[in-house]
Amino acid sequence: MKLIPLPAFSDNYIWMLHDGHTALVVDPGDAQPVRDALQREGLQLASILVTHHHADHTGGVAELRNATGATVFGPATEEMPKPLQRLSGADTCSAMGLSFQVLDVPGHTAGHIAYYCPAVDGAPLLFCGDTLFSGGCGRLFEGTPAQMLASLESLAALPDDTRVCCTHEYTLSNLLFALAVEPGNTDLQQYLAQCQALRAQGLPTLPSNLALERQINPFLRSRLPAVMAAAKAHDANMTDSAGAFATLRQWKNDYR
Ligand code: ZN
Ligand code: FE
Repeated sequence: MKLIPLPAFSDNYIWMLHDGHTALVVDPGDAQPVRDALQREGLQLASILVTHHHADHTGGVAELRNATGATVFGPATEEMPKPLQRLSGADTCSAMGLSFQVLDVPGHTAGHIAYYCPAVDGAPLLFCGDTLFSGGCGRLFEGTPAQMLASLESLAALPDDTRVCCTHEYTLSNLLFALAVEPGNTDLQQYLAQCQALRAQGLPTLPSNLALERQINPFLRSRLPAVMAAAKAHDANMTDSAGAFATLRQWKNDYR
């Protein structure tokens, strides 16, 4: 299987998984990059997986389905282009001969779902939309900090070698914020240098993996004393650990 991030718009990735004959894509906000890739590689599109209702994730769905007859999977409770196989937590969906577990991960949107496959060529694979980013997390448009924290913690409980396929190339700006939170985190310093080198060559920083995210992502580290202390220094009114997460999210919103 080949896993490819197709760049779309200014900073989206449409993830494509293919076996040389058939393909699936995740969150095709634009049909054109997918159509180009299908043609270039001589592939048939079999499945479209959608994580949430935002237009930069759904804009190309109808055109691709009409052009290819692909089956569309998406969240049960969100407004979606139809027809749609509606999914929510604990459902499974099969695509490309693989079985994906569906996880409810509310916070960025109320009905946001993620897709997890325990083994694709020997390593787990996670399509997490706008919930978990490398070094960051999605904005809370329709959920509370407590919901987003629970969603991120359910993702962080997946195995170390899980490849994390996020939908946006936000890594560098996320890591600059992460360094403001944890200036002494040497894993973070090293990872930032690595990602800067990749971006200087125009290469994606993704997929990431969960072992790394647990070392460098402040939104997965909000219960650690050093991170709680930094959040408290930023906002003296902060109280418990859900408070630390909420403080971090607000701090990131305001961070330039
Ligand atoms: Zn979104
Ligand atoms: Fe998005």
